[in-house]
Amino acid sequence: MNSESNDAPPMSTSVASSSDVGRMRSVNEDSCDSYVRPDGARLLVVADGMGGHRGGATASREAVAAIGETFEQRFGDGASPDPGETLVEAIEQANARIHALSRQDPELAGMGTTVVALLLDRAGRAAIAHVGDSRCYRFRDRRLEPLTVDHSVVAEMLRRGVLTAEEAANHPRRNEILRSVGVLRDVDVELTPLELAPGDWILLCSDGLCGVVSDAEIDLVLANASSPEAAVEDLIRLANDSGGPDNVTVQILAVGDDWRADPNAPPLAWSGRAAAGGSGSTSPGGSGAASVRSGAADDGTRLGEVGAPHRSVSAEPGPARRAVLKRALFLAALAALAWWLLGGR
Ligand code: CA
Repeated sequence: MNSESNDAPPMSTSVASSSDVGRMRSVNEDSCDSYVRPDGARLLVVADGMGGHRGGATASREAVAAIGETFEQRFGDGASPDPGETLVEAIEQANARIHALSRQDPELAGMGTTVVALLLDRAGRAAIAHVGDSRCYRFRDRRLEPLTVDHSVVAEMLRRGVLTAEEAANHPRRNEILRSVGVLRDVDVELTPLELAPGDWILLCSDGLCGVVSDAEIDLVLANASSPEAAVEDLIRLANDSGGPDNVTVQILAVGDDWRADPNAPPLAWSGRAAAGGSGSTSPGGSGAASVRSGAADDGTRLGEVGAPHRSVSAEPGPARRAVLKRALFLAALAALAWWLLGGR
């Protein structure tokens, strides 16, 4: 399953990774894996499942497997397709697989998962894709920088200036997410271009880490860790020492000091599907009510609904933003037509 040991990649990157059930739960519904091609292309994936013990674990496991399979297929036989487009396709495949499984088995109904994934190609081009509140950070020059913005109720309130960071940290709705993989027929993937430099550490984690341990504490652990493996262990220990209320998963991509991107690599292509493919994006009527996890203290059976529409947030490229705008205008026109037909005037 984990192809880390198959081949020594020519580019000097390495991955450290671990997942822990935590102190309060009986089942680990997080999943993670990493893959490497002989040419050095890499995929890292973290998924945090929800929808009951069996559903949550199934959704996260299936997401990681589906994303890994798409990576292996697209990057097989020496191919090197666009990292961002591959990630969107991979997460769409994962969404379709989980959604289909959830409709076949009543015990899995409504299951879903967050995903954060990083894809690095042999030329050094890299992209992050995420859905939900699993996160990616870059640690460079001893400073931690968040690269993703959660698709969550609290992150949205922060973005709108309704909450302060302090209020957000303890907000009762802090576990509610606005996007997920597998719950709806469509998935709204956010892509973020990732520029790497020698010495960088890129951290992927589930909210069992970043919802429990502050960014400042994560920064301190990374600054003092002797290796990526030690950092992963220390972060999981810190989450557990802080009560370990949730499953905790941490992956670190370490970029070697001798690593260099290919200066002749083509620029990343960004597909409008990345932001426009989701159900209910900027929908004026909120018809695509978002799947959420709720209940900070519950045991993992936490699917519910919130009336807020899915929204696209920062760091999307121009074409994707335009596609979202077009979709919003189309939906607004549709809503006006429906209102008129239903005798609104
Ligand atoms: Ca979690």
